[in-house]
Amino acid sequence: MKRYSILENREIVLLKSRPCFWRKCTFCDYIMDNSTNVEEMNQINHKILKKVTGCKEALEVINSGSCFEMPKETLKAIKDVVTAKNIKKLYLESHWVYRHRLADIRSFFEIPIVFKIGVETFDYDFRNITLNKNAHFKHPSEVKEHFDSVCLLVGIQGQTKEMIRKDIELLLRYFEYGTINIFTENSTPVKRDEALIEWFLNEYQHLKDHPTIDMLVENTDFGVGD
Ligand code: SF4
Repeated sequence: MKRYSILENREIVLLKSRPCFWRKCTFCDYIMDNSTNVEEMNQINHKILKKVTGCKEALEVINSGSCFEMPKETLKAIKDVVTAKNIKKLYLESHWVYRHRLADIRSFFEIPIVFKIGVETFDYDFRNITLNKNAHFKHPSEVKEHFDSVCLLVGIQGQTKEMIRKDIELLLRYFEYGTINIFTENSTPVKRDEALIEWFLNEYQHLKDHPTIDMLVENTDFGVGD
């Protein structure tokens, strides 16, 4: 499993954390990288964090869940790296349910944080019924109140071109940052819609050059994971 990589504008680490509180999204099998052994998690995470050099002055931390599911010692270790390596911007992820706790994390780190949220789609029913995401907001402005960046999932059977067009439009209208993940099949029964993906990659290829939107055609495109 690759756990450290350098992107154009930031370093990125994939750390270990406790299992996601929810674990019920229909498309997700991230739990396979989670642990309940705090000591082991901290040990691995310290080792990965040692690789951070500060070369981009920005660091993204992902952990197969929300940042709140990392042990507190790991959060402290991230803060130590931020200080030691002169990191000026941090990217972290959180589920909608933790939205009222983001301010605590922002004040803990004392540097600007780009908080990412996996909304997957702004279509309420597809998000909460088909994908079972448990993120019950009605409008992107509610998300924008708390988060800086949204992650969209593209190419799942049942999605439509209209739904995806709307998602991209709302991402660009409301958010400075975004991540578009083309769905990669995994151990869940959720399937890709190859024709929809082909259409999307053709129609929205210009987004690959967008300075603050990441498009992941493979889920390992950030250079971490397996
Ligand atoms: S909230 Fe994230 S980590 Fe948790 S089950 Fe859903 S996709 Fe997986």
